[in-house]
This record gives sequence, C-alpha cells and structure tokens, in this order.
Amino acid sequence: LGAPSSFKCSGACSTSVPEDLSLEEIQVSQDKDIPAINQGLISEETPEGSFLVEGDIIRPSPFRLLSVTNNKWPKGVGGIVEIPFLLSSKYDEPSRKVILEAFADFERFTCIRFVAYQGHRDFISILPMSGCFSSVGRSGGMQVVSLATTCLQKGRGIVLHELMHVLGFWHEHARADRDRYIRVNWNEILPGF
Ligand SMILES: [Zn+2]
Repeated sequence: LGAPSSFKCSGACSTSVPEDLSLEEIQVSQDKDIPAINQGLISEETPEGSFLVEGDIIRPSPFRLLSVTNNKWPKGVGGIVEIPFLLSSKYDEPSRKVILEAFADFERFTCIRFVAYQGHRDFISILPMSGCFSSVGRSGGMQVVSLATTCLQKGRGIVLHELMHVLGFWHEHARADRDRYIRVNWNEILPGF
C-alpha cells in the first residue's frame, strides 16, 4: 500500500490517493464486529442506561453546546466539507495508517476532507478508548471518536462506519424515513429486542 507518507493528510487533504484502494475491499461487512467489540460497554440488564445507543452511537447529550444550532458540518468553498481531526499519539504506525486510509477513501469518493486540527472550534478527537463509537453529526467543540486497536484489526471498515456517524448518518434501519422504504416484520423480532 505504498509508503506511509503518502497517506499524510496535510493541509486541505489534497495529496494523491493511492491507486490500490478499492471499494470492494471496504464493502467487507464489519457490522458484526462492532457489537462484539463493544459488548462490555453496554449493560445487558439496562441497555437504556448505557452511554451508547444502537451499539456504537454516543447518547446525545441534553447539554449540547448552544453554539451548535444544527449538527451539520458546514460546507465551504466549492462544496468542500472540512472535518478537523486530532489523532491520538497512542496509535502505532499500522493503526494510524488504517485511519488515514479511511480519510483517503472519503477524499476519493466524496467532498469530505479530514484536515489536521489547527485551533478549529469544532473538531473530532480520535483516540483508542475501549470500543468503537462516535456521536452522530457535529456536537460542537471537541467530540470524541473512539477507535480501539481492535476496531482497526480488520482494516478500515469500522473506521469508515464511525466516520459516517461523525458526518451525521444514523444506522440505515433507524433513519427517520425508514418506514417509507422497508416493512418491519414485527412478528419476527425476538422478545426483548
Ligand atoms: Zn454504528
């Protein structure tokens, strides 16, 4: 996958993206892995008391910053959306590489650019806490994205998943408009779920 330096996300993230990043590779499902990794973070008796909802989303705080009137990241010049990030120094080089590969995917396929934090008001801080989780959308100020090293072991799938939450995406089955697109077979749902 080329020299690690080619993944450095400097300035406006305009460095070239390695040719050998393929979508097929990303589409390997990581969905089963997040619940397994986060298992210990969610109390089985009182899942409603957990700080996570839906397995890996930080419960929205009732004390959100007043500066955030909407939780979208603002669009800049040319429709580019910049997400400033801090990457914990606790990550080793292979882990950093996986995360920077995920940034490169967004740069390649979307108008999203992850840019190195330089005193921005709102930014994400990516660090290896226990488990893989994020808030949905822009929280205001610093917001934590936890990517434990176990979240990085199978490549960038889980990183992309959590970064999608950062961008404002909920899980597809929980979208506000999901009932327009799917039919829920309620009788197929196990008691307790
Ligand atoms: Zn998720």
